[in-house]
Amino acid sequence: MNASVPRTALVLSLAVLALASPAARGSALAPIRLRVDMTEAPERVLHAHLAIPVRPGEVTLFYPKWIPGEHGPTGPLVNVAGFTVVASGKPLEWKRDLVEMYAVHVTVPPGTKTLEVAFDFLLSTSTEGYSYGAGATPNLAVLNWNQVLVYPTGTPPEDLTYAASVKLPAGWKYGTALPVAHATGGWVEFKPASLVTLIDSPLNAGRWFREIPLAPEITPRHYLDLVGDSRESIQITREQEEKFSRLVREANQLFGAHHYRDYHFLYTLSDHVPFFGLEHHESSDNRTKERVLVDKDDFLRAADLLPHEMAHSWNGKYRRPADLATPDYATPMETDLLWVYEGLTQYLGWVLAARSGLLSPVEAREYLAQAAAELDNEPGRMWRPLLDTAVSAQFLYQSGFAGSSWRRGVDFYEESLLFWLEADQIIRAESKGQRSLDDFCRRFHGAPSTGPTVKPYTFDDVVAALNEVQPYDWRGFLTERVTQVRAHAPMGGVTRGGWKVTYSDSMSAYQKSLESARKRLDFKYSVGLYVTDKGEILDVYPKSPAAKAGLAPGMTIFAVNGKQWTDDVMHQTIRAASHTREPMDILAKNGDDYATYRMVYTGGERFARLTRLEGSPDFLGETLAPLAQKTSASAR
Ligand SMILES: [Zn+2]
Repeated sequence: MNASVPRTALVLSLAVLALASPAARGSALAPIRLRVDMTEAPERVLHAHLAIPVRPGEVTLFYPKWIPGEHGPTGPLVNVAGFTVVASGKPLEWKRDLVEMYAVHVTVPPGTKTLEVAFDFLLSTSTEGYSYGAGATPNLAVLNWNQVLVYPTGTPPEDLTYAASVKLPAGWKYGTALPVAHATGGWVEFKPASLVTLIDSPLNAGRWFREIPLAPEITPRHYLDLVGDSRESIQITREQEEKFSRLVREANQLFGAHHYRDYHFLYTLSDHVPFFGLEHHESSDNRTKERVLVDKDDFLRAADLLPHEMAHSWNGKYRRPADLATPDYATPMETDLLWVYEGLTQYLGWVLAARSGLLSPVEAREYLAQAAAELDNEPGRMWRPLLDTAVSAQFLYQSGFAGSSWRRGVDFYEESLLFWLEADQIIRAESKGQRSLDDFCRRFHGAPSTGPTVKPYTFDDVVAALNEVQPYDWRGFLTERVTQVRAHAPMGGVTRGGWKVTYSDSMSAYQKSLESARKRLDFKYSVGLYVTDKGEILDVYPKSPAAKAGLAPGMTIFAVNGKQWTDDVMHQTIRAASHTREPMDILAKNGDDYATYRMVYTGGERFARLTRLEGSPDFLGETLAPLAQKTSASAR
């Protein structure tokens, strides 16, 4: 997964779910029929109907709770409405479990062979969150099957077969990795698939749709399935298309094998859906702004989104921490190895973005500078070790910006990027340039090619695989970086790569672009403020000039030294104060109260950059150099 802020649900005792349901057992091999009517998706409701083979007795129906890739109990149960269970034409009473909200108990009467379950799924309108955020507009929709089904407990989800079909609004087209059986009468019927494969195979659809084959010389096939809120939004340029094709080539070159039948980037472009990506074995559900293909700032902001999600097919889906490879959608996940699952993926997404040209070499370095500076300056690292950010993922994902510098957020993404880069640089140095972390990926994630399957691992397996590539104290290296509270971010990868993080008084083009796309302004390393372009304070660094002035998250800045707030006024005022040595008066609103806050700071603006370490070779450049160009003939 990639991006910001989900919500959480209660983690409850699941003892009841551990009990196999005898009524369901034995009928597991008969397919469950699932029909999803999406014709009212623009009105934000999906109609689901299931026909579930059963035997008489007690049956527990479960709504998926722990969603793979979201690393938390995020199944959107709250959006289920109109739930009915019918047997032989008669409504049956159902009872929600008193402890496990996602479970419903039904007594199946004698003679019943099939339960008819129907409900509506009320699509969210929130542009916050992940797959449970907004998924439909008048022009498009994304279907995540976990939201429109229940399953009988007692049979492993891998052994439950679903024959699923959907009806789309007239004229809409769709993309999905789920193999299609046939389409008739407005319904698209899919080939029967296990519950695991079904939930792993979302669909995007819309009025404006394009499916673009990528890197067509490579087998298996790869597709970019574009759905947008306007005709213009899906007009991809040849240059952009080529970058995505290069991504496919680079990923295949990096891993040397694959674990999907074919691969679909489902790319949904709308200002009315959350900005995020969710990985699957054979596809990824990527959602960004409507104008991402038109606006260069939005395109740059999303540069590592598709690379990150694609890398997950290998790192996260195929190779998965054993405690994240749970047997069903009820068992809580243990997330302590997310620094591999997400952290290594963050590293690979960045590397692949650079190798495919989605990030230029300068932009790739700027990206690294931002990550390194942010973590290096974060006061929360004084109390919370990185490991705890991973263990706490299920509540940190939805913790928001306020207080995030002191609390810490899901830092296991970018801080892990830093030390995976360090690991890469150590392997390059110790092997005298013969090997790199690429070799680890080929060994750990690569051959033999398979269909979608999960090969779980433990911390010991990671250490062993690293040692097979290059003997080193990997156990000590990783343990220290993950478990120790450290005042500063791990910069070894940057410095071994021939660079260092420095601070400049002017913003780079990359930073300006990101600010413009995110509509958030970064004054963190000068006065300690993180604000929206409207002056709303998102976070204040403890002990910073802003904090000492009394500013706090949740306030809104209206004026700076008597001038109406704009980002330019704020920048100019901070710069001017370095010459005038005068304090800055910030007029801000806190609740209903306005007050002026006097901020004392004369250090000028500070923006992170990467600058060369004198006399040291640019090993970082070697890490980020394309692989596939050199050997493109062999990929054909
Ligand atoms: Zn991810």
